[in-house]
Amino acid sequence: MHKRVQREKKVISLMVKKYCKEIHNENELCSNCSELLDYAKKRLLKCPFLKNKPVCSNCDIHCYNTHKQEEIKNVMRTVGPKMIYTNTLDTLWYFYYKFIHKFQKVT
Ligand code: SF4
Ligand SMILES: [Zn+2]
Repeated sequence: MHKRVQREKKVISLMVKKYCKEIHNENELCSNCSELLDYAKKRLLKCPFLKNKPVCSNCDIHCYNTHKQEEIKNVMRTVGPKMIYTNTLDTLWYFYYKFIHKFQKVT
């Protein structure tokens, strides 16, 4: 698995776990969050972009179905900004690629 994909898999896992703990009060993932995380990991494994992969939230083709896309957006909106305090490096890495991809699209 490409390093970029591995790292994004790690970030998405951290986000969903944090979300489940805060919103659903679960230390282990509840069934809904577990299903969402499995889904996100499967999408990442099938991602056609490899090393040129944008972060999923910037992707033009977005391979998630509409329901899962809304769910993952909600997770990101809820816990994403707080991740900077608990998982600083991973979060900075994520925003770095998000910024780079947006910049490349404009230029
Ligand atoms: S949303 Fe885009 S970047 Fe994310 S896994 Fe799907 S195709 Fe790849
Ligand atoms: Zn949950």
